Amino acid sequence: MDVVVFAKYVPTPEGTPELGPDHLLVRDGGDGALDPGDTYGLELGLRLVEAHGGEVTVVSMGPAGAIAAVQRALAMGAHRGVLVTDPALRGADALATARVLAACLRRRPADLVLAGIESTDGYTGTVPVTVAELLGIPSVTAVRAVEVVDGALRVERQTEEGADEVACPLPALLTVTAGATEPRFPSLKGIMGAKQKPVETLALADLGIDVEDVRPTQRVVAVADAPPPAGGEIVDAEVGIARIADLLVEAKVL
Ligand SMILES: Cc1cc2nc3c(=O)[nH]c(=O)nc-3n(C[C@H](O)[C@H](O)[C@H](O)COP(=O)(O)OP(=O)(O)OC[C@H]3O[C@@H](n4cnc5c(N)ncnc54)[C@H](O)[C@@H]3O)c2cc1C
Repeated sequence: MDVVVFAKYVPTPEGTPELGPDHLLVRDGGDGALDPGDTYGLELGLRLVEAHGGEVTVVSMGPAGAIAAVQRALAMGAHRGVLVTDPALRGADALATARVLAACLRRRPADLVLAGIESTDGYTGTVPVTVAELLGIPSVTAVRAVEVVDGALRVERQTEEGADEVACPLPALLTVTAGATEPRFPSLKGIMGAKQKPVETLALADLGIDVEDVRPTQRVVAVADAPPPAGGEIVDAEVGIARIADLLVEAKVL
């Protein structure tokens, strides 16, 4: 089973993301790492190939520094990596990102594509399903469990009410919820071994993509700090319940 896992390089949550003069996130040279939201899909992919054979390829689009996200995934157990990096991709929007990732999959088709539900920085949540649409393959989102049965998938999809069970043919794309798996930590052997694993670094030209096709369709014109949250009301225990009931009545909740 050939599994591709998308891995985004994002500012580390502990760091302080910086915006450049063009109001875009400074990604290169910044303090970045593998998006934690992508480790669940990676873990699921590793378990599937451990059970059914095959390989996991991790694919990332980002600045040169995004190699750190690829290396982390290889240290966790992925077999090979692909990094797409090109100066023309600076400020790429979600559609451009999806076009690049889809081109990687046309170049090297996979049986199964796994992604996070939404990234922790841009969080449009649109890239994976856009990739599936561009490739004309089915996608199932918010997956919390998956089984391979007779060459097809039986998928459990998280819903507000509980879960849907979905039958899905291969090839397919799934976005994986945080609760689906417990991502493994890379072992020292895994970290050392990652350096020996094959990584391809591609530019747009290698994917046959014209710069015009990834030109951002929107421009950030200004960024302003979010207004401080409006002052709440501190209700002391003495009058608490009655005051809260009054507030709920005022708010027409009660
Ligand atoms: C603060 C901020 C706001 C933004 N707002 C917008 C916006 O409104 N519209 C817009 O089009 N773009 C926006 N962007 C740009 C957008 O983040 C990038 O285009 C990004 O590459 C893809 O979108 P996303 O992060 O929303 O992906 P999502 O769709 O949220 O990501 C879901 C999953 O797709 C995969 N994935 C996403 N990006 C990559 C990648 N580069 N490499 C590998 N896998 C990936 C990962 O598995 C990820 O978990 C914003 C970026 C930032 C930092």
